[in-house]
Amino acid sequence: MFELLTEKFSNVVEKLKRAKKLDEKTVDEALKDIRRALIEADVNIEVVQKFLNDIKQKLVGQEVIKGLNAGETVIKLIYDELLNILGKEEPLKKAEKTPTIIMLVGLQGTGKTTTAGKLANYLKSKGFAVGVASTDVRRPAAAKQLCTLAESINLPCFVDEEEKDAIKLTEKVIEKAKNAGLSYLILDTAGRLHIDQELMDELVEIKNKVHPTEILYVADAMQGQDAINTAKEYHEKVGLTGVILTKVDGDAKGGIALSVRQVLGVPIKFVGVGEKINDFEPFHPDRIAQRILGLGDIQSLIEKMQAAIDEDKAEKMAKRMMNAEFTLEDLKEQLQMIKNLGPLENILKMIPGIGSKIKDLKVDNKQFVKIEAIINSMTPEERQNPHIINGSRKKRIARGSGTTIMDVNKVLKQYKEMKKLMKKMKKSGKMKLPFNMPN
Ligand code: GDP
Repeated sequence: MFELLTEKFSNVVEKLKRAKKLDEKTVDEALKDIRRALIEADVNIEVVQKFLNDIKQKLVGQEVIKGLNAGETVIKLIYDELLNILGKEEPLKKAEKTPTIIMLVGLQGTGKTTTAGKLANYLKSKGFAVGVASTDVRRPAAAKQLCTLAESINLPCFVDEEEKDAIKLTEKVIEKAKNAGLSYLILDTAGRLHIDQELMDELVEIKNKVHPTEILYVADAMQGQDAINTAKEYHEKVGLTGVILTKVDGDAKGGIALSVRQVLGVPIKFVGVGEKINDFEPFHPDRIAQRILGLGDIQSLIEKMQAAIDEDKAEKMAKRMMNAEFTLEDLKEQLQMIKNLGPLENILKMIPGIGSKIKDLKVDNKQFVKIEAIINSMTPEERQNPHIINGSRKKRIARGSGTTIMDVNKVLKQYKEMKKLMKKMKKSGKMKLPFNMPN
């Protein structure tokens, strides 16, 4: 997700951090680098101009912010401007009378149906009564796909396979949904491969019939500026209240995420980050800005840990990591947690200073099993004080875990390196953000 932007911006941030003085040359160079990064990331050109102009304006007469050095002051300005471009976080609006109807629109193949299921599942997880319905009369398979998805998460799906008129169908499914006492109804609409007038007319008619509280355009992030242009047409014809960006997991560039707010004037409300039903998150501009600047995303990391494991444990673990007090017992616990967290690559990318450095990292999960077995064969004392592990202890551990002394040495070495890295991070303050993030 946004690896290219993160890599380029991290370079700018690193350069600025090293800058002792903020002379014209340093600033010019940083602005040039930012311009190049934004253009390569396929950010809309007007957005790029605005971004650079705003930073330049703020830099004139800017004093170094208390507690920060000159470079960090510029990083703070860039962060603020990224937030400005991304816009404020805007949760879903609610209708006065239930159900709140959320209409999803967009071209075929962007992930609209999958997103209807994901959004319904998300709202269900927040405790709401949710249902889904499809108004697609052209592709019965699309309605079926939606209902299969809804069934898999135990949610009602309202369809009428006999009805071939989209507007009449909409009336029927809305009636059924209203009787079901729902808080939210997600309305999946028909898509086409390209925009056509008939579809737009149909969408406008549906809109006028059901008065949705939200009309969200589902945009495929990987289509970059094409997606923005299509969204613009939808916005002009149907009127959008927000955007859901899908396939962000495959979008290294991030241009569309930075362009939507400025070009369309509506917020991104959610992002799809994978094919599974849970791969869906509210859009947090502050976290995205931090991630783009290579400051990592500690908040998301901790939340993810908390969702997967015991909260107390997560907090203690995070503290121990930040203080570089880290034993083999912790490492073992972490391995167990990691199993619940999903692919380790994704977790590592959220750690400040690491995200931009690993692009194609693949982690071999078999290694975890081995490491765990080795740690399991240690005594509690050995786990707390690994330095007491001498030759004969190593032999015993290797035998107990069905591995070799070389394997044991490797784990001990890795542990030492992790600890060293944490100490270094603690010393350089990398685990902390360089300035206070506004909430
Ligand atoms: P629709 O034609 O717009 O309704 O699109 P679908 O919902 O059928 O999705 C098209 C394809 O995109 C499917 O293979 C989905 O699994 C995939 N997809 C949808 N959202 C995401 C996402 O956030 N990430 C990834 N990697 N794939 C997605």
